[in-house]
Amino acid sequence: MRKRVAYLRKSRADLELESVTGENTLKRHREIINKVAEKNHVVLDCYYQEVVSGETIEARPEIQKLLKEIENNNIEEVYVVDVDRLARGDTEDQGRISKTFKFGNTKIVTPTKTYDPNNEFDEEYFEFGLFMSRREYKTINRRLNRGRLASVNEGKFVGSVCPYGYTKEKLKGQKGFRLIINSEEAKIVKIIFKLAIDGIGASNIANHLNSIGSKPRKSEVWVSASIRSIIQNPVYYGMIKWNHRKTEKKMVNGVIYKTRPKHDDYILVKGLHEAIIDEEDWKMANENSKIKTGKSVKKDLKIQNPLAGLVECGVCGRIMQRRPYHSGHIDGLICPLPHCKNCSSHLYLVENAILDGLKEYLEEYKDLITTYKKKQNTEEFDINNKELIEKEMEKTQAQLNKAYDLLEQGIYDNNTFLNRSKQLKEKIEQLKIEFQKYSVESKNKKMEKIKNVIPILENVVANYSKETDIEIKNQLLKEVISKIIYLKTVRGKGHEKEFNIKIEIKL
Ligand SMILES: [Zn+2]
Repeated sequence: MRKRVAYLRKSRADLELESVTGENTLKRHREIINKVAEKNHVVLDCYYQEVVSGETIEARPEIQKLLKEIENNNIEEVYVVDVDRLARGDTEDQGRISKTFKFGNTKIVTPTKTYDPNNEFDEEYFEFGLFMSRREYKTINRRLNRGRLASVNEGKFVGSVCPYGYTKEKLKGQKGFRLIINSEEAKIVKIIFKLAIDGIGASNIANHLNSIGSKPRKSEVWVSASIRSIIQNPVYYGMIKWNHRKTEKKMVNGVIYKTRPKHDDYILVKGLHEAIIDEEDWKMANENSKIKTGKSVKKDLKIQNPLAGLVECGVCGRIMQRRPYHSGHIDGLICPLPHCKNCSSHLYLVENAILDGLKEYLEEYKDLITTYKKKQNTEEFDINNKELIEKEMEKTQAQLNKAYDLLEQGIYDNNTFLNRSKQLKEKIEQLKIEFQKYSVESKNKKMEKIKNVIPILENVVANYSKETDIEIKNQLLKEVISKIIYLKTVRGKGHEKEFNIKIEIKL
C-alpha cells in the first residue's frame, strides 16, 4: 500500500513573519494540509517536517528521507502548502525533485491543485511553478547587476565600502559616484607601496605601520592580509575593477558550497578618479614575491578547519583561525589579531571541549524532557481539551459564515438570520473563554523546540569523531551551534594546556 504523506518546511519569508507575529507557521501549515486531506477523504500516513529551514536538498534532512521513500516507490501522494516548499532557487535541486516525483509516479497535492507529474500537461505546470520562483529570483539579480555593470564601464564607483585612501562623492548631473582621494589615508597608501617596491613583505609592512601609530579604518592594527589587498588593488593607479569575486556554487561530495574564488574574467576600466600610485610603481610593488605569495591565492577550495567560522575570540571578538604548523606539528587555533591577549590552543583540544559541551547540552535537554513528561500527564488532558475547543470554534465560525450565505441567497429572512447568528456568536464567545483556561501553549512551544534539537545534537555527538571529511565536520557543528566564544588567558604547558580553555557554546 503506497503511502500518503505531508511535507512541511518554513520558507525564509515565514521565518521573518514568525519573528514579528510569533505565530507557529508549521502548525498552521499542518492544519491547512489536514483540511485538504480531510476534503479528499484521505488519512495521512506521516509528516515530514523540516526542523531547520535550509534551501538546498543537502541542507534538508527530511526531504532527503522523503525522496528516498519516493525512489523506493512507496509514496502515492505528497501534501504541501505550495510546490515551492519542495524546491526553490536552485536548478539542480528542482530537476532532481521533479524527476524523482516523475519516476516514483508520485502526485503533489496543494490546497489549490493536485499535480500529477506523469500527466503531460501537469508536468509542465509543475515545472513552470518551480521555474517561476527561480526566474523571479534570477531576474532581480540580473537587473541589479546590469545597472552596476553600466556604471563600472563608465568608471564610476559602485561598491559600498570605499577602498582605503579614498572616499566617494556623488557625481553632479548624473547618477552614481566617483572616488576622491582622502589625503591622510593616501599618505599611508604611498608608504605601503614604497615599502613593497623595496621588497619588504606584507607582515613587516603591517608591523611598520603599527609601530608608527597608524591605524586602518575599522580595526586597531594593520594585518598582512589588508596590506596585501591594498597592494593588489588596481584602484590605486586609477582603475576600477569589477566582478573580481563573484559568489560561485561548487559541488563537493554531493554538497553545495558557496565560494568567492578570485576570478580571471573581471572588468578593468579607467576610473573617474585620480590615481595615488603610478602604474609603473603599482606593477613593481606587485612583482614583490613576498606580496604575491599570500594565503589569499590558495587554490584549494576545501576548508581545512573543522571549526571554520564558528569560534569567536573572547577578548577581541575576531573569528579564530586554524594555524597550520609545518614539520608535522599539530594544528593550532589562534586569534588573527597580533598580540591579542587570548592564548592559542591545539585545535583538537578545542574540538574536544566543544564536543563535551554539546554532550552536556544533550543530557540537560533530555532531563528537561523527562521531567516535563511526568508533569505533562495532567497537562495532556488540557491540551486535548484545547484542541477540541479549537475544532468546535472552527465549526461554529463555519456555521456563522454559512448563515451569512443563506441570508444573501434569500433563504434566511432577516429574523431567522439574526436569531441564528446571535446564537452562534454567543457560542463563539463562550468557547473563547474556555479556550483561555488551557493556555499552556508557550511552555509547549519551548519544549517542542528542545525536542526538535535533541535528535540533531545526538547526530552530531555520535558522528563528529567518526567523520573524516573536514567540511562535513564543520557542517555538523553548524547544524546546532550558532557561535562559540573561546577564552584562554593563562598559557599552559604540556598537559595543563587543556585545563585553561574556557568555551561558551551558543546553540
Ligand atoms: Zn583576539
